[in-house]
Amino acid sequence: MTFDELGLGPNVLQAVNDAGYTHPTPIQAQAIPSALEGRDVLGIAQTGTGKTASFTLPMIERLSKGRARARMPRSLILEPTRELAAQVAENFETYGKNQKLSMALLIGGVSFEEQTKKLDRGVDVLIATPGRLLDHFERGKVMLNGVQIFVIDEADRMLDMGFIPDIERICKLTPFTRQTLFFSATMPKEIQRLTEAFLQNPVRIEVARPASTTETVTQAVAQVPSLPKLKREALRSLIKSKDVKNGIIFCNRKRDVAILARSLEKHGFNAAPLHGDLDQNIRMKTLGEFRDGAIQLLVASDVAARGLDIPDVSHVFNYDIPTHAEDYVHRIGRTGRAGRSGEAYSLVSKQDTKYLVAIEELINKSLNRITIDGLGEDDAPTQSRKSSTAKKRETGPKSRKTPEKAKRPSKAAPKKQDTDDKPVVGLGDHVPAFLLRPTKLPKSRSLA
Ligand code: AMP
Repeated sequence: MTFDELGLGPNVLQAVNDAGYTHPTPIQAQAIPSALEGRDVLGIAQTGTGKTASFTLPMIERLSKGRARARMPRSLILEPTRELAAQVAENFETYGKNQKLSMALLIGGVSFEEQTKKLDRGVDVLIATPGRLLDHFERGKVMLNGVQIFVIDEADRMLDMGFIPDIERICKLTPFTRQTLFFSATMPKEIQRLTEAFLQNPVRIEVARPASTTETVTQAVAQVPSLPKLKREALRSLIKSKDVKNGIIFCNRKRDVAILARSLEKHGFNAAPLHGDLDQNIRMKTLGEFRDGAIQLLVASDVAARGLDIPDVSHVFNYDIPTHAEDYVHRIGRTGRAGRSGEAYSLVSKQDTKYLVAIEELINKSLNRITIDGLGEDDAPTQSRKSSTAKKRETGPKSRKTPEKAKRPSKAAPKKQDTDDKPVVGLGDHVPAFLLRPTKLPKSRSLA
């Protein structure tokens, strides 16, 4: 099938052609004709399937006739995160370049004033995160009774983020006669209920996860200690042992994103954090630099990275194994895109076993076990064996360029020293106290 058969007009077809797409993806082939007819669509599809174009292309076509009125957007797209909203806006710019559609992006972290000005001029397409949209609504800056096309994207992620009450409220502010296009990667009960309440006789389209996700990604897990310092060290060894062009490192908590990114930087890696508490401008800048290759390693939380379209990521590292098995699939879906090969490694400590079991059940596959160089499963230290040598390995003098492997605790070291928290005397790092005493140099020998 080609794009010409879907019912799109010449301007949109030209833009699609310029984007280099020759064939519609399955969700595009099925959703576009129905959306053009004005039907409601329920798309069960995740990022990477081409779902964004499956709603932006027919929207551009349908909105090309008619004009926007002040503060009354003609269409509304809800996205769970600022990054996704910005990404959809980019799609509109690409595909709508031959049309004169006006667009506004209402996301947190950007000044209200600029956004209000745009709304005052009238917009054809409003792309928003739920919180910021409701802020504008409550200030009387936007009315939703002119919305003809309403898109809810990544509904299951909205559910995870607690946005469902906001979405229900927003939905009720739009006219009953609107067209609704609804997308979700999974269909939990709450989402099912939403679709029954808000969609009218929808065309249901379900597309399989992009086959490329698991088939072209080499996946493995490595047992690591749970003590954060040792876990970070294990990650560094793992990264060094792989040919990493660029990679995303996932943490389960925002706090750990920040700590890990800082630690990697301190150890000379080209890494930057991406999490929801960062200023919007910084997040966009970081993402841009990662895409351009100026940043090699992006340390991210699930929410920040969800759905991001970053082509050609060579590696994904799960610093923390995700507690929701679904997130594992989303995370590794960041690599091996569009048929390219990719590698995904997960660090697992003993208490994570139940999450690993759930993941293997979901993907119906047993993951390969590997050991990290110098960190055999048997001698993987655990929290109870926290040693002073390990401490020194983390905090020891930077100038000593000891290879990672050589810095491992020596198996030959006496047991007592291995469990003692005091500095080990006589193994090289100890400085005798008399050398640390302040001394006055005679003037003639001053170093200044
Ligand atoms: P999405 O699922 O919307 O995030 O799209 C994933 C990626 O696929 C994006 O980089 C799109 O630019 C790309 N894409 C969308 N439609 C097509 C198509 N028909 N052919 C090739 N690539 C596409």
